[in-house]
Order: sequence, then C-alpha cells, then structure tokens
Amino acid sequence: MENSEKKKIWLSSPHMSGYEEAYIKEAFASNWIAPLGPHVDAFEKALCSYTGARHAAALSSGTAALHLALMLCNVQRGDEVICQSFTFSASANPIVYQGATPVFVDSEEDTWNMDPQLLEEALKDRLARGKKIKAVIAVHLYGMPAKLNEIKALCERFEVPLIEDAAEALGSQYRGRACGTFGRFGILSFNGNKIITTSGGGALLGEEAQAIEKARFLATQARDPAPHYQHSHIGYNYRLSNVLAGIGRGQMQVLDERVAQRRRNFDRYVRIFSGFPGIDFQPESPDNFSNRWLTCILINPELAGFDREKLRLALENENIESRPLWKPMHLQPVFKDAPAYGGSVCARLFQDGLCLPSGSNLSPQDWERIEETLYSVLESNTVSR
Ligand SMILES: *Cc1c(COP(=O)(O)O)cnc(C)c1O
Repeated sequence: MENSEKKKIWLSSPHMSGYEEAYIKEAFASNWIAPLGPHVDAFEKALCSYTGARHAAALSSGTAALHLALMLCNVQRGDEVICQSFTFSASANPIVYQGATPVFVDSEEDTWNMDPQLLEEALKDRLARGKKIKAVIAVHLYGMPAKLNEIKALCERFEVPLIEDAAEALGSQYRGRACGTFGRFGILSFNGNKIITTSGGGALLGEEAQAIEKARFLATQARDPAPHYQHSHIGYNYRLSNVLAGIGRGQMQVLDERVAQRRRNFDRYVRIFSGFPGIDFQPESPDNFSNRWLTCILINPELAGFDREKLRLALENENIESRPLWKPMHLQPVFKDAPAYGGSVCARLFQDGLCLPSGSNLSPQDWERIEETLYSVLESNTVSR
C-alpha cells in the first residue's frame, strides 16, 4: 500500500506553540489539576482583552456554550429558535436539548452565511403563525463574518436576542470589531481542529455580568451557596479544567500568528487556482476580516472539467484530507421535520464545495504534495492557462 505510507496531511490539526507546557507544568506543580483555578481566570481575561468582550466564561466545549446561551435566553419546550442551515450540527443540537424546535434559514452568496432577507421572512412568518421565537443563531462559517449589521437590526426590530456562533471565527472581525461580540451572546470553540485549541473547550462571551455569572453557576452543577450540596436548579458539568485553560493561555499568545498563517494559506490557494476556470472562493467584503480558518473552494464542474468528488478522491489517494462543505441542517435526516426558509443556496455550496488542507502547521513538504496533486487534476482537465 504505497499511499498509506505517505504521511497524512490533515484538514486542520492542533498546532502547539511551545508556550503551553510552562502553564501545564505550573498547574501540575501547584496540583491545580481540578476544574477551575488561576489558568481559567487568566484564559478568560485573555479572551476578553483579545475580543473586546466584557465577560467570558471558559467552558468544556462550544456546544456547552451554545446550550448555556439558549438557557439564558429562556428557550423552553415548545419555543422556536432560528438557526443558519449551513453549519455544523452543534449549532442546532442544543436547541433540541432545550425541547425547542429549530427553524432553518438559508445562506446568501456574499458571505455564505445567514441571508438577512430570508431571516426577515422567517421571523414574520413564524410570528404570524403564533410561534414564540426565542433566539436567532447566526454562524460565521469558516471564519467569515455574517452580515451582522442587517441581522442585528432585524433581531432588534423583532426583539429577539442574537447568539453568534463564532466557533470557527476567533480572530475574525466585522467592521473592525471581533466576531462574537455583536449579539447578546457569542460562543467560541477550542476543539482540536479549530484555529486554536485546548484539546477540547469553548467559551461564552457576553456584555451582561449577571448572565455570564449565571452561566458559570449552571456550568458548575448549579450549587446554591451552602456548606452542604444544595440545589434549586438543574445544573451541568460544563466548565473547563485548569490544565486545559493553561493550554489555552499558551495558544492565545500565538493567535494572531495563526490567523496570519491561515490567511497566507488562502492566498496560496488563490495563486494555485488562478488561471484555471470554474473555481471560486468564499468572498471577503470590505466589511469583513476572516481568520480564513479553512480555505474552501466552489467547483463549477462544467467550467472546471471536474467535480468536487473527483478532486477530493485525488487528494485522498495521496493521503491528503479534504472535505465537502457542511451538509446543511435542513437536509439532515435528524432535522427533516424542522421548518426551513429557502435552502437552495447552501444546498449548492454543499454539492460543489470543498475544504482544502488549511492548518497553520503545513510544512513545505506538505505544500509540495498538495500542489502536485492539485495541478495534476487541474492540468488533466483543463485546456491550458
Ligand atoms: C466546532 C463547532 C461548534 C462546536 O464546538 P465544540 O467545541 O466542538 O463543541 C459549534 N458550531 C460550529 C459552527 C463549529 O464549527
């Protein structure tokens, strides 16, 4: 098996800086291994100062952060929550944890994120049907900010809180301000494949001290103040450990470098594909600064002479990981009964889109193999440059 001997090139793998170990050693030396502690506090501070958010709670995952955000928006059984269809399932699952119904909204072509016009249509239609819309979840997919101005204005007009799923968008900005700080709440993820990682983790960002305090309370088993274990709420075990927060502190020190490297990856792919027809990239408007977490292309098979599956398999054959774009939630079997508004835009993104290897730790040798494989497909299918 010649190809399985080649080193695997991942879509996006953890990239440690070397700073993390000192923090971990400190946690071990002080035996501050168990949940919470000085690294958690310092990591939260670093997140606030980097993003400009007033408050942050470090948590066990981005999914936990979204779940808490929905609880804080008082999402209950029978309510509805509007959610971008084009996303990872973790954006929508916590809606169901709360017993509520997700209502999916299609993307627009400019950013690939929630279409404000369809959001307006959905808000009007759900309200006309007498539904209670408790929150809107907008996603900054692949690090690209959504049309926040329009989405925020609609949320204000309809008096529905906005939750930003910025799991993929740490380091991204909309009109010069960090993603995750526009809605009532913003959530981040530090899962292993994200732009920085704590191996697993997340954070809830917000302006209201009381709400973030309540999130911390719910995330630590909802213990009332008492010497014994006293509970008047159902609690969760959602907080980040002090050891993992230490990893996060080290990662924060290199976040800007990671963003710069991912943006260089994007530029490199643009150069590789330039001159070949039928390939488009996720657009970045002057309002937006994307961390370019993953570089994604759209392949028009008629113009390119090959489709996304052909390219994906060619890369796989060289032990290089690539992936179709997120399969929209309104097309997922588990959400087949959920209401949806539009859907053809993100369905096409899924059909023709491919995420390319985008780690900040790709080596020159990795790039050589990636380029060679891409050119072999490009040159065998198109006439000339
Ligand atoms: C990764 C991700 C999440 C979930 O974060 P976890 O930390 O893995 O729970 C949520 N939404 C989006 C868009 C993501 O990419």
